[in-house]
Amino acid sequence: MTYTIETLKSKIDDDNKNKNGYEVDVIMAAYALASEAHEGQMRRSGEPFISHPLAVACILVDLNMDTETVVAALLHDVVEDCNVPLKNLKRQFGPTVAKLVDGVTKIGMVPLDTSKEDEHAINIQKILLAMAEDVRVMLIKIADRLHNMRTLEYSPPHKQRENALETMNFYAPLAHQLGMNTLKVEMEDLSLKYLDPYGFEEISAMITKRKEECDFSIERVKKFIYEKIKDINPIIEGRVKSVYSIYKKHYTGNKPLDAIFDFYAVRIIVNTSTECYYTLGIIHEMYRPLPDRFKDYIGTPKPNRYQSLHNTVMGKDGVPFEVQIRTKDMHNIAEYGIAAHWKYKMNVEFKVGRSGKKSQTAHDNKLEFLRNILDQQQEADDIQQLAEAIKTDLSSDDVYAFTPRGDVITLPLGSTIIDFAYAIHSAIGNKMTHAKIGGSVVSFDTVLSTGDVVEIQTTNSSVYGPNRNWLTIAKTNQAKSKIRAWFKKQSRPENIKLGKALIEGGFKRNSIPLEDALLKQTAKAFRFEKLDDFYASAGYGGISIAKILMRAKELYLESQETRPAADIAENIVTHVAKKQARGVLVDGEENIQVRFAQCCTPLPGDEIIGFETRGFGTSVHKKSCANVKLDKEPDRWHKVEWVASDDMYYRAAVEIIAESNAALADISTVITSNRLQFSEMSMKTLPNGNACINGSVEIANVEQLASILQKLKKIPEVISADRRAD
Ligand code: MN
Repeated sequence: MTYTIETLKSKIDDDNKNKNGYEVDVIMAAYALASEAHEGQMRRSGEPFISHPLAVACILVDLNMDTETVVAALLHDVVEDCNVPLKNLKRQFGPTVAKLVDGVTKIGMVPLDTSKEDEHAINIQKILLAMAEDVRVMLIKIADRLHNMRTLEYSPPHKQRENALETMNFYAPLAHQLGMNTLKVEMEDLSLKYLDPYGFEEISAMITKRKEECDFSIERVKKFIYEKIKDINPIIEGRVKSVYSIYKKHYTGNKPLDAIFDFYAVRIIVNTSTECYYTLGIIHEMYRPLPDRFKDYIGTPKPNRYQSLHNTVMGKDGVPFEVQIRTKDMHNIAEYGIAAHWKYKMNVEFKVGRSGKKSQTAHDNKLEFLRNILDQQQEADDIQQLAEAIKTDLSSDDVYAFTPRGDVITLPLGSTIIDFAYAIHSAIGNKMTHAKIGGSVVSFDTVLSTGDVVEIQTTNSSVYGPNRNWLTIAKTNQAKSKIRAWFKKQSRPENIKLGKALIEGGFKRNSIPLEDALLKQTAKAFRFEKLDDFYASAGYGGISIAKILMRAKELYLESQETRPAADIAENIVTHVAKKQARGVLVDGEENIQVRFAQCCTPLPGDEIIGFETRGFGTSVHKKSCANVKLDKEPDRWHKVEWVASDDMYYRAAVEIIAESNAALADISTVITSNRLQFSEMSMKTLPNGNACINGSVEIANVEQLASILQKLKKIPEVISADRRAD
């Protein structure tokens, strides 16, 4: 149905007659702002968007929520979807409404990963509750989700499944924790309809059939009971259990449909808890109870404050049914949960705050109701405490932040972006360039709050890296020690010393003569002009010692064979350099200076295009490269094509994931035995212990690259070998 302001107004009018004290002018102002902000926006159903916030507001009025909640419900999508600044809401509607809207927006940003195990789902529910400092935030969010579920038929199938799963895993359990049974049941049934349409149909059809069969006898049962206890003025309802509750018993509990006894329930609502027990006694006189079905949730309430007496008895005509007995107040709590508590609190404050003592007497009965509840559950002496009690064991000394994929990162209170990045992995911290919270770029010293979705952007460029200042920003020792480790690694003199010792030791062990010329050749083979740079790189693990030794050995053996080794090394390097420069034609011309873009490292066979740089010749990109922007300076883009040739070399970026660093020896053997070489290489250990090797290989064309990658993949420890995607 399409909701209009009239729908909401008539609900409020009905309610105001019930003395809920809604401030109509404020609600109308919120409607005016929302309808203007959403002007022109449509829902997938084809209705104007404003129908959605109105529906959410109506759900909350039905729950007897207060004016602020209804106002925030009307405005709940204007900040995120219409860019209305939060400060405008604060100015017009006060800080509480602004806080409620902000909370709803933030909760909507938490990535809910439904593929994770139950434990994860329970933790997320707790975090969501903790984030909703004001429990009304959660009530608006649940009402929002309920209306989205009611209109889910208009969404594409993958969205239907995703939303239904989230609702089933996170929102329905939350509604349950908050004791909001009515909303929970509706959300579950709506979710089930999309998650298992056939199961849903089967159970619904069965319910309809059984209802027809039982209706008559249940009506009779209601009448019998009423006759026996009419002196205490009970309300007696007969009802069928929800589709999902029967589905669960049938499918998960593996019970045949015939064995589901509490399919039908008779609910008896009386005035006092004494009357509850009295009524139970009468029922037991009338009907034979089934064994082991009695539950006293009045003496021992459920954690979500649910109270009732339950029993299953055998009807006179052999149809068993469940009996639920509760007081009116218990009923309110059972159906509306925390919203019922809220209503109570609001009324007292509202009345006392505005019209003083006189109206308080009108609420004396309600006060008594609260006193009753409090007497039974001494720990909950106010609404906030009740919410706190539900949040249970999340430590208040921690913040819970999310990665964009929905992983929870737990950090001590006061932690910053830097702590978060290092908590994921030291490589993430070391390579961090920017960070975003909820999509906006933030500075590294930003202190995290529970519920923040933090995205860390990294780079492989060595321009970035930790800065001494980070040590003072980081709160956790984990981050601090990782930053210190990085500095240690970066300390060049030490790295040179270490690398030199490692290389010299290796030469000795492998009986390679420690000659200056050979060392320089080896360094050159790795593109190092200066020996110190070479040592430093070996020192911090930029190139592995194993690889250095392998190369050195080769060079040494070659020098023993024929010509002086120095020539060979020189030749290889210059050969590559020269040929590289002549691999393509630019606008049909051969002798134009070209270089191959580092961003996409094109290879013969790739479709390419050239960009005329200022002073550095033509830079050749893959046509598919993200950096190719033909609309920008179109004059500087040139047609380039490959020159067919066998003896030219190009550089291809490859990434190899192996089970461990140990695979490197085999990898190097494959590369060199195919007369190829790594021109640069780096290796890192991934969080799961795998090794990730990034290198550039000199290669003739794409076919050769494909064949070498094929061979690399055959190495048992190698998990994957691919041309690096850029
Ligand atoms: Mn919404």
